[in-house]
Amino acid sequence: VSNASVSLGAVYCIGRNYAQHAAELNNPVPSEPIVFMKSAAAIRGLSPQPMAFASEAYDHEVEVVLQIGKRCELGSAPGWEAISAITLGLDLTRREEQNRLKTLGLPWENAKNFAGSGVLAQWQPIQAFPQPDGIEFFLKVRGETRQQGNSKDMLFSVPTILRHLCARLALNSGDVIFTGTPPGVGKLRVGDPFEIGFVGGKAFAGQL
Ligand code: ZN
Repeated sequence: VSNASVSLGAVYCIGRNYAQHAAELNNPVPSEPIVFMKSAAAIRGLSPQPMAFASEAYDHEVEVVLQIGKRCELGSAPGWEAISAITLGLDLTRREEQNRLKTLGLPWENAKNFAGSGVLAQWQPIQAFPQPDGIEFFLKVRGETRQQGNSKDMLFSVPTILRHLCARLALNSGDVIFTGTPPGVGKLRVGDPFEIGFVGGKAFAGQL
């Protein structure tokens, strides 16, 4: 699920990065990026694979996903030049479990980091995106459009996210960042066929 030359590193995810998505879950708009992580073992490709909690329905979150192409030192403020490839992914979420953990003030990992919870389409070189901060993208489930968004609507831009992360640690080639989901989250079940794609560009068929 990564460029042939790059192995998967750390997987960072940004929460509530679209105002309309924060609103649909009755969450306040954050004043700084909300960061959580998935393990490499949680990441899978588009074809069906065994999933943890496979009897559950998951909330789908389609997201623009970035691949770091070169090391970014602690304390640096990298921009788009640090990104080597872009794809789309699904951040699958056990929403009821997340709500339970939120109520208790506990971390979200049990709701976000489990086998199969991070789905990645094929990486596209950054050069394929003349305007990478205005990427329009969608998710269809069983042929029905569920989510559509544009990365220009991110609350925190890619350089802001990179600076926020690099204030805390170095980023390495192969690290990836899920950049948050636009509104329209809903349920996805094991066996559901879906399509994630760039509006006017490549689309990728998958099955949970
Ligand atoms: Zn997400």
